[in-house]
Amino acid sequence: MLINIHTHNPEKQDTHQIIYNLIVPETDEALETFPDEDVPSTWLSAGIHPWYINENNQKAQLDKLAKLAKYQEIKLIGECGLDRLKGAALPLQEEVFIKQIRIAEEVKKPLIIHCVKCFNELISIKKIVRPKVPMILHGFNNNFHIAQAILERGFHISLGAALLNDNSNAAHLLPQIPLEKLFFETDDKNISIQEIYEKASFILKMPLDKLIDTIFANYLEICS
Ligand SMILES: [Zn+2]
Repeated sequence: MLINIHTHNPEKQDTHQIIYNLIVPETDEALETFPDEDVPSTWLSAGIHPWYINENNQKAQLDKLAKLAKYQEIKLIGECGLDRLKGAALPLQEEVFIKQIRIAEEVKKPLIIHCVKCFNELISIKKIVRPKVPMILHGFNNNFHIAQAILERGFHISLGAALLNDNSNAAHLLPQIPLEKLFFETDDKNISIQEIYEKASFILKMPLDKLIDTIFANYLEICS
């Protein structure tokens, strides 16, 4: 089974399995009806995105997430994390991220992480909080130095659209990432997950079906 570990598009899934991401909303009105009936009946992840933390309502956002996290359809917690370029002030992002790590620990589900220019902070938080649940860095397209630092600290890496560009960090890094730490995703991009796997199979000189099986085994390893 071909798995798309992180998407915001409720695509058809006759050929593959998606993990559709739910972003916990900011206001009380929105939280009350969240998640609405438009949510596709598929595997899900849910989290408070660092762009959408409401400083005055973060407790309600976290309470909602803590409830949702127990649902069987929710397979991962996130995307959550840190973004130096956008969203709430960094100390608040860190606080809400740490609380989401605690929720993930409570329900023993892995985290899917958004990180923009905050890798030192991310690594320190992991060192201090020491979560047992796996942490997947999604949409990774950073340099080898950062990849090495996060792999040494036990993170998983999910690669997406950047892989389709031959000159991207993602394309150059792929052969260096241990296969058992690897996932693929489409995120919010209008691309097919099949293309991403085909490109990865080409770069790794690995048969497509073997790659698909390996990545699905990674999923089963961390999500069951
Ligand atoms: Zn995303």
